[in-house]
Amino acid sequence: MKKGKRQADWSELEKREAAIKPRSKFFSHLSVSLLTLVLTIGLHQADFDSLKGLLIDGLFRTQLDSHPHPAIKLVAYDTQSAARYQINYKIPTEELLKTITRIKDEQPLAVALIAPLNEKLYSEQELSELAHAFSQVPMYVGYTDSENMGKNAPRALFHSTHYLPGYVSRDTFSYGADSVSRRVMLTIDGLPTVYLKLAELFHHSNHQELSYPKNRIEKFGESTQSYINWQGRAGSYPMLSTLEVSEGHFPKDYFKNKIVLISSTLPSKKDADFIFTPFSREPFHTPLLEGSAHSLATLINQNGIYKSSFWADFFLSLILGLITMNLLLYLSPARSIQFLIVEILFLTVLSGIALWKYQYWVDVAHPLALLAIGYYLIIPYRLVDEYKKRWHYQEKSEFMAELEQLKTNFFSLISHDLKTPLARIQGNAELALSHSSTDKDEKQKKSLEAIIHTTDELSHYVETVLDLTRIESSKVQLNKTSKDINTVVKEVLKSKITLAKEKDIQIQTHLEPLFSFNFDVKLIQQVIANLVENAIKYSPRGSTITINTKEVNSLVEVSIRDEGPGIPLEEHENIFSKFYRMKNDATQREKGTGLGLYLVKYFVELHNGFISLKSQVGKGSDFTITLPV
Ligand code: ADP
Repeated sequence: MKKGKRQADWSELEKREAAIKPRSKFFSHLSVSLLTLVLTIGLHQADFDSLKGLLIDGLFRTQLDSHPHPAIKLVAYDTQSAARYQINYKIPTEELLKTITRIKDEQPLAVALIAPLNEKLYSEQELSELAHAFSQVPMYVGYTDSENMGKNAPRALFHSTHYLPGYVSRDTFSYGADSVSRRVMLTIDGLPTVYLKLAELFHHSNHQELSYPKNRIEKFGESTQSYINWQGRAGSYPMLSTLEVSEGHFPKDYFKNKIVLISSTLPSKKDADFIFTPFSREPFHTPLLEGSAHSLATLINQNGIYKSSFWADFFLSLILGLITMNLLLYLSPARSIQFLIVEILFLTVLSGIALWKYQYWVDVAHPLALLAIGYYLIIPYRLVDEYKKRWHYQEKSEFMAELEQLKTNFFSLISHDLKTPLARIQGNAELALSHSSTDKDEKQKKSLEAIIHTTDELSHYVETVLDLTRIESSKVQLNKTSKDINTVVKEVLKSKITLAKEKDIQIQTHLEPLFSFNFDVKLIQQVIANLVENAIKYSPRGSTITINTKEVNSLVEVSIRDEGPGIPLEEHENIFSKFYRMKNDATQREKGTGLGLYLVKYFVELHNGFISLKSQVGKGSDFTITLPV
């Protein structure tokens, strides 16, 4: 019943092992590629705007040098200027008039006021004074007050000014809704912005047409916009205050043929005159005026950032994902991490180059997300296989251990049960032998002697197996008594003398006088008997066996030297293994179990001693056991 169950278990294990054979490479690659495709499609359903915004801002920030456009000059109504008028909420008319008059004398290409300019802020009188001054220069007003959107210029300014929207976009809804200004507006509600008009003017002055590349323009609601090509952080454009300009503190021809942008840089409650940029999200850090300069420069240079299309991004993710995931199937987890780090660095550097050299905004947010998620999926995918295998081996080894235990028990039972009948056979044979004394019993005598000899061998074998089972179930216990080991050697030799005589072998002894010490007499007797038996068994007829005993540094040594075939060096370790027998003609002829030396070594080590072997092939072997006193 039990046996049947075992067999079923075993075949079950075999079946399972066959099932865990590594998946076919083709299947693994196919499933990983399909997984990558599904992941790519899934991930591209999300925008990852925040991550995209962070990444592109990071790339802008890595830019070391700045390139302010030489044709753009900035003038700010700043705290220094405001100190004179004590007016914060608008640029005072007087200051504007003075500033514009100074700039007019320098013959600028255009003057643009980037500020709210309406009847709510300025009286009719002020507006008509301004209108007069504006008519002296190519004047533009880029209004920034949102409630004014799409309205006409105040009546007084109607004829003297290009009155246009001057907003810089803020990402309030896209890219993480972080209010960062990333785009310049070209048109709003079909109306050109002041930046587009100024850029066109710049090109006209050089007898060229502005043909802003269509693929760099995106539609956002009712506006068309282009991504600003930031050419430096805050402060990259030199800026004069209106105070300096109105008092004439600037180099001659500073504004000649330039586009002059005027705006307020006073921290006001609404902070409308400040923006967040990829470089800084600190309030009141970067004036709108700087954003206007970068926006205008982008349009003049016609190099707004070109954002790659959905499909370009999709295929980049897919290709990178396919390469990476299929490679991860082969790499170790540590190598995978290294590979991913290198890949991410490579991707970042490449997208940096694309941005700075070619104004190309590659979406790395999706590929990065794909690589991260892919990595966390593929490593467990691989581990599952390995865990399955490990679990199976564990199960198998538990099964083997159980089997081993069963075998030991079985041996133990059989050997015990064999001992009694064997002893009875031997006893009866000996009895019969002692009764047969006449000549006609000669044949019978020989048979009885053969029976006794064979049962002797069998008993010896049974004893050996019993010893083994005792060892394996850890039942061997030392029963130490004090004795002179020379006595043990002599007793063993006495019992082996007939065996030696049969082969005409001489046994010489050199036994140094020794003190008695504690050891398990029965076991050590067995050890010495085994070594002597082997020496006799494997030695040629007429050879000599030498037995030495001595004490060196509280260690007793017993060595048994023979003139047998010897043991090659590569077998020195093996011969002490369980059931190991050397495969050469000289020793294989002899009967044996391959257990003798295993037991010898075990018993000696149980005494905290050791066994060593010196041997020369063709000359003989010298086994020495060393026991602590
Ligand atoms: P067994 O003698 O029953 O085969 P042992 O464990 O006693 O088993 O010995 C293991 C093997 O070591 C033997 O089969 C034999 O090949 C080799 N051996 C042991 N003693 C000697 C010896 N004195 N000379 C040469 N070979 C030996």
